[in-house]
Amino acid sequence: MKKVLLFSVVISGLLMMFASYVGADEKTSAKVAADPFVQPKLNYAYNALEPYIDAKTMEIHYSKHHAGYTAKLNAAVKGTKYSKMPIEKVLKKMKMKNAALRNNAGGYYNHNLFWEIMGPKKGGKPKDKLAKAIDKSFGSFEKFKAEFSKAAATQFGSGWAWLNVDKNKKLSICSTPNQDNPLMPGTKCKGKPIMVLDVWEHAYYLKYQNKRGDYIDSFFRVINWDKVSDNFCGK
Ligand code: MN
Repeated sequence: MKKVLLFSVVISGLLMMFASYVGADEKTSAKVAADPFVQPKLNYAYNALEPYIDAKTMEIHYSKHHAGYTAKLNAAVKGTKYSKMPIEKVLKKMKMKNAALRNNAGGYYNHNLFWEIMGPKKGGKPKDKLAKAIDKSFGSFEKFKAEFSKAAATQFGSGWAWLNVDKNKKLSICSTPNQDNPLMPGTKCKGKPIMVLDVWEHAYYLKYQNKRGDYIDSFFRVINWDKVSDNFCGK
């Protein structure tokens, strides 16, 4: 009789351990399911783009603005079909009248791309296939730079300037207001974004105030052309 009792105590103990293990596992996967979009880590320090983009702007921009868009995107997709899609698909499938998704899916994706196409000790000019495509699409690097800078300078109010590639590897430049994005339905842009510049005042006002043109010139000193080239080649 004692043996049976001991046996059942051991078994119930094992069952409880198993139940708590399964429970912990369920909690972990529930947490992952609740937050499908994660803010990617910056590949460089906040001060790494000095003197062109200052550390304080980078810190506030990444840890407050971009983190905020990420949190609001996760809240906006919670319990919807969008929570199971990659961000590119969310942007392609969303309705423009869905303001929460439009602002925050855009804000999430746009900043992800913006951070990754900049870096310390970068700038200069693109090489190889991308350099050839720029010459073919715009005439020369200088003409491309002038056209991109104009798109960034003339975007009224808050927005973004984009370099996109279409299925035939042709490049185009466009700009969008607010957090709109070339992948969304109903923007005038065509193709897949490979490079972007944030021209919201929060991206430059601490250092440049009203001088958006100086900020655009500085951006060209930190562009990571190797990364833009990877985006162009579809790597
Ligand atoms: Mn921004």
